[in-house]
Amino acid sequence: MFADIILPIPFDSFTYLVPPTLQPTRDMRGCRVVVPLGKNKIYTGIVLRTHDTTPQGVEVKEILEVLDERPVVNEQQFAFWQWLANYYLCPLGDVMKAALPGAMKPKDEAALKESSRRRRSLSIGSLCSDNVTVRPLSPPQQTAFSEIEAAFQSKSTVLLHGVTSSGKTEIYIHLINNYLSEGKQVLYLLPEIALTTQITERLNHVFGNRMGVYHSKFTDAQRLDVYKRQASSEPYRLILGVRSSILLPFQNLGLVIVDEEHEQSYKQQEPAPRYHARDAALMLAHMCGAKTLLGTATPSFEVYHQARKGRYGYVQLTQRYQDMQLPTIEVVDAKEAKRKKLMRGLFSPRLIEVMREALDRKEQIILFQNRRGFSSFIECKQCGWVPRCPHCDVTLTLHKKTSTLTCHYCGYTTHIPERCPACEGERFATIGTGTEKIEEQIPKLFEGATTLRMDLDTTRSRSHYENIINDFSNHQADILIGTQMVTKGLDFDNVSVVGILDADTMLNLPDFRSYERSFQTLSQVAGRAGRKHHAGHVILQTRSADSDIIRQISSNDYWQMFYTQMLERQMFSYPPFRRLIYVYLRHRDDQLLEHLAIDMGERLRKVFGDRILGPDRPPIARLHSLYIRKLMLKIEPQTSIDKVRQALLSIQQQMLALPVAKSLNIYYDVDPL
Ligand code: ADP
Ligand code: ZN
Ligand code: ZN
Repeated sequence: MFADIILPIPFDSFTYLVPPTLQPTRDMRGCRVVVPLGKNKIYTGIVLRTHDTTPQGVEVKEILEVLDERPVVNEQQFAFWQWLANYYLCPLGDVMKAALPGAMKPKDEAALKESSRRRRSLSIGSLCSDNVTVRPLSPPQQTAFSEIEAAFQSKSTVLLHGVTSSGKTEIYIHLINNYLSEGKQVLYLLPEIALTTQITERLNHVFGNRMGVYHSKFTDAQRLDVYKRQASSEPYRLILGVRSSILLPFQNLGLVIVDEEHEQSYKQQEPAPRYHARDAALMLAHMCGAKTLLGTATPSFEVYHQARKGRYGYVQLTQRYQDMQLPTIEVVDAKEAKRKKLMRGLFSPRLIEVMREALDRKEQIILFQNRRGFSSFIECKQCGWVPRCPHCDVTLTLHKKTSTLTCHYCGYTTHIPERCPACEGERFATIGTGTEKIEEQIPKLFEGATTLRMDLDTTRSRSHYENIINDFSNHQADILIGTQMVTKGLDFDNVSVVGILDADTMLNLPDFRSYERSFQTLSQVAGRAGRKHHAGHVILQTRSADSDIIRQISSNDYWQMFYTQMLERQMFSYPPFRRLIYVYLRHRDDQLLEHLAIDMGERLRKVFGDRILGPDRPPIARLHSLYIRKLMLKIEPQTSIDKVRQALLSIQQQMLALPVAKSLNIYYDVDPL
C-alpha cells in the first residue's frame, strides 16, 4: 500500500510506502505520519490518501511512524485546503503549514504538554463563566436584527453597514445566541489588532466556556489546545479568532461573522497561502452550508458592490446606540498654517488649542500618526546621503530611543553613523515624523500631560498591548499616540478629542485603493472620539483641505466617495470590475531576473493577450537580498479560475525548466491588496 502525504514544504504531496508492520485496519487519511525526505531530513506530514498505484521512475521511501489513531484533519478541512491551494495558486504543503499549529510536530509535543498544563490555569480559568447575559436591543438594533434574519431566508451572505458605535457587536451577540441554541457552531472573525481583551471579555461574559479564542499572539501550545478541542467530540461552540481560525476544524458550522470586513489585515501577505480571510470565510461558509454576516462602518468596494447588485443582503444602521452624536470632524489647513509659520512640529495652533481645552477638562486624547519610529529616515545635511538597507530597496527608519536605524522590512538594524560615509559630514537632518517623535514633542507643548504610545515597537507581546489599553482606560495617561493600531475595536469612555496629524501620507500613496483606505482608516479613528457621554471632536490636519476626498471624509459621505472612486475604477479596469493576480519573480541576480521576467511576460501574453501588464519593478524592488519583478494579470470577474490556474502553472513549469532559471522563485498574489 502507498500513501500520498502532504509535507510542510511548498509541494502538493509525496508518495511513500506503508510498511506492512504499520498497516492499520482503518483508513489513514487525515492522520499524521513521520517520513524521511532527501538524505537526512525527517518531517511530520498528513496522509492525503492511500492507494496501490506504484509510482514510476522514483525511489519510494517508507513511512517511519504513524502518530494518530484518528484523523486530525477532517473532510471539511481537506476540501477547504484544496480550494485555498487552487484559488490562491499555492501548493497544498503551504496550506497545511498555515493550518496546523507548529506544535503538531511530534518532537515538540512532549515538551508542550508540560508548559500547556502550567499555563492553562492562567488563561482560560479566569474567563470561565456560564451566565448568559444578552442585553434589551434598542429599536433600531431590533429592526436591523430582524432584517438580517429575513435576508438570510433568501441569501447566504448579508452586509451589515452600521456607523461606528451603532451597536453592531450587540446584534452579533443576539445572532450567535440563536445559532448556538439551534446546536450550530459560530465563527466570529476579527482583524488581528482588534482582538483585544475588551471584546473577549464582553463575549465571554455572555458565552463563557462555550467560547474559544484563537489569536496569533498565542503560544503554540495554546493554539494546539484550541485545535485539539475543535477536532474532539466536544468542540467550542463559538470561536472568536483572527484570520487563521478559518483553518480550524469545524463540525457543524452555522454562522460566520466577519467584523470590520473592510480591514486590510485580513489578507495574508507573507508567506503563502496569501489568502483573504473574508473571502475564504465566505467559501468556508458555503462549503458548510452556513450563513455569513459581514459587518463594517465603511464597506470594502468589493463587498458593497456585491450588496448593490443584490447578491448579498444589505442592512443599514445609521444611528449610534442611544442616538449619541457622531463626532464632528474639523478640517485644519496645514498648508496655510505652515505658510504662516504657525506649525509647531506636526501641531497646528487649532489642534493645540482643542487639546489644551480637553486636558483642562481632564478628558483624554488620541493622536493618530500612521508611521512608527522617530522619523522616516535621516539625511546628511551636507551632501544629502541617506542610509539604506543593505538587503532591501528601502531607507532605514530612525528609532531615537534605541539610537538605531532599522529596516522595517527585514529587521536589519545598525547604529547611527557618527560621520557621513560619503562626505565625512557630522550633521544629520531627520525627515518625516513618526510616533516616537510626536511623543517627544508633547511635553514641550502640553506641560504635565502624560502619554502612552501604541505601535509595533511598543506591543511586541500581547501583555504589552493589553497593558497599554488598560492603562489608558484607567486614565493612567492623558494622551494615547499610535499608528493604525489605535483605530480598531477600542472603546474608551473618556476620549473627547482625536487628532489626525497628517492625512496626506495615506492619501498620496501610489495605490488605486489609497482613497478608499484613507476613508476607512480615518472614519475608524474618528469613531474613537466621544463614545458614551458626549459627542467627540476630531481635528483632521491636511495640506489638501479643499479636496473632494477630504470633504467626503469630514462629512462621512461614504456613498459619494464610493461613487466617485468607482468611476475611476471602471475607467482604469481595476477591482471590483476586474480581478487582479500578481505574478512575482525573485532572484539574486538582477540582470538575469530582468531577462527571465521579460521571457515569462511574453509567454503569458500568448495566452492572456493584453490582460498581462509588465514586468515592472515593484515599489520595493529588493527584499532580503532578492530582486523582485512583478507581472500583473487583469481578468474579467466571470473568468474561470481553473483555466487561469492551468495556464499560469504550465507557464511556470516551462520557466522553471529553463537551465538558466535554476534558483528562480515564482509565486502569486491573487486578489492582492
Ligand atoms: P459598534 O460595534 O457598532 O461600533 P458597539 O457594539 O461597540 O458598536 O456598541 C457601542 C456601545 O454601545 C458599546 O459601549 C455597547 O456596550 C453599547 N451598546 C450597544 N448596544 C447596546 C444595548 N442593546 N444595550 C446596552 N448597551 C449597548
Ligand atoms: Zn554627507
Ligand atoms: Zn531590509
